[in-house]
Amino acid sequence: MSGWSAFERFLRTDPADAGCGGTMEVMDVYAELAVTDRPAAEARYPGVAAHLRVCGPCTEDLDGLMTLIRANGHGPGGILRTSYPAAVSAGRGKKPGRSRR
Ligand SMILES: [Zn+2]
Repeated sequence: MSGWSAFERFLRTDPADAGCGGTMEVMDVYAELAVTDRPAAEARYPGVAAHLRVCGPCTEDLDGLMTLIRANGHGPGGILRTSYPAAVSAGRGKKPGRSRR
């Protein structure tokens, strides 16, 4: 999608914007934090917060992830590290996860 780069750069008026790649890298951690304390997540990852303000697809991903976390519960260590990739790859390589409550 090279045709989009100029447009993307134009959209990226915030120099702190982490971009889609940078956002995806910390998306799971960000979502987990945002579920409990959104302002804290934004303060901790300002570049991601800046990106989410301008990127619809990433915002949708985050929303889906946060829904998943709320449904599965969350806690230190992040249950999501196992459940999210499994959900994304449509259940492929699903591991018998430890369910702690
Ligand atoms: Zn994005």
